[in-house]
Amino acid sequence: MAPRLFGTNGVRGIVNEGITAEFALRLGKAIGRFMSGNVAIGSDTRTSADMVKYAVASGIMASGQRVLDLGVLPTPALQYFVKTHNRVSGGVMITASHNPPEFNGIKCVDSDGTEMHRSNEERIEENFAEDSPGVPWDAVGSYEKVSGASESYVNAIVSKVDAAKIRAANLTVALDVANGAAYKTAPLLLKKLNVRAVTLNANPQGEFPGHPSEPTEGNLSDLIRLTKSLKADLGVAHDGDADRAVFVTRKGEYVSGDKSLALLASYALDDGPGTVVTPVSTSSVVEEVVRGKDGDVVYTAVGSPIVARKMMEIGAAFGGEENGGLIFPEMQYCRDAGMTLAKMLEFVAVKGPLHAQIEKLPVYYVEKAKIDCPDHLKDGLMEAMLALEPDRESDTTDGVKFIFKEGWVLMRPSGTEPIFRIYTESKDKEWAVSKCAEYVEKAKAFVTQNSL
Ligand code: MG
Repeated sequence: MAPRLFGTNGVRGIVNEGITAEFALRLGKAIGRFMSGNVAIGSDTRTSADMVKYAVASGIMASGQRVLDLGVLPTPALQYFVKTHNRVSGGVMITASHNPPEFNGIKCVDSDGTEMHRSNEERIEENFAEDSPGVPWDAVGSYEKVSGASESYVNAIVSKVDAAKIRAANLTVALDVANGAAYKTAPLLLKKLNVRAVTLNANPQGEFPGHPSEPTEGNLSDLIRLTKSLKADLGVAHDGDADRAVFVTRKGEYVSGDKSLALLASYALDDGPGTVVTPVSTSSVVEEVVRGKDGDVVYTAVGSPIVARKMMEIGAAFGGEENGGLIFPEMQYCRDAGMTLAKMLEFVAVKGPLHAQIEKLPVYYVEKAKIDCPDHLKDGLMEAMLALEPDRESDTTDGVKFIFKEGWVLMRPSGTEPIFRIYTESKDKEWAVSKCAEYVEKAKAFVTQNSL
């Protein structure tokens, strides 16, 4: 089998180290030998966006395909374009999402607009391993700039929410797009919904000068201050390629992704029971709220394509990750920050202020730890943990999750680093803290014993 290039979110690396022009060109050729006909390409706002994009585009043309360049746009906008254009065989997004500015990445999209199946990525990896000079001169592909993909995406979102209710609510939003791909689409979306937008970090500059583009509480102190001082109905932040959205309440409270997931999951079930799909690492706040609506939760391994494919398979009502990556089947089967923002606006217009809705949610405490664990001991550690408590209710969808009366413990190996993560969650904070410490000790003891 060819060496693996694609991780869970495409190929990523530091520009002119892992992601060089030569690498991007060769990968573009490999992509062009897999896809056929029209291939859409787009990028986020990184400094290296054009360098990587044109190298990939050149490779796709060398393999005989026609490149449709959509310009700078959110990943879900590119996905929506691919999904809604039958003659487009796939898409390529040049982005490293929330990674620091020295990174870039290449991510592929299948013809239905979903993140590419692993089996298709493997075919591209095989093409990459066996490089080809390309097609004869008279079969070389062409290049075309295509405008309007962002506008079509925004119009589609407006059509999927109760725009009349949102417009009538006269809302104000503090918007932070991290100088990323949504700098144009998010203000346009808000304008079309009659929402007053006060923007922050809305300059499409690749250095992310405002703050790092991962929408964590620590990175959003300006947004939190702005939301509070404006008394805005919502503060919202997107990550660099705008597939994730997180919120801030009028009182300046950062709303963690599991809470917005819980609220919008509950809202999705207002019209009747349904199934919500989320990874095993998501807080039980989601399950408690969904069960309260007579709905079901189906847990998957961690990774948004896994969540999206499970949703398609079972016809789920809603799904998403606890990092603000939410998936709306009525729009498309991928994480979508624009749709998340519009739906949250509808939710607030219908149900009232976000802070009041957050206060109604059950409170869970999470403890997180990680320990060093060499890759070759990871499987053994999971087996050893399971063997320690053979009678305990467990879930091995991704790592080992033990279910207790008071909460749960999840132990997962990192896919990229020699570490093992241990999470605990409970309504009882002390339980979460002490269980986490207990399993850290158990896991460390195993690693120490087996490293001798
Ligand atoms: Mg992202």
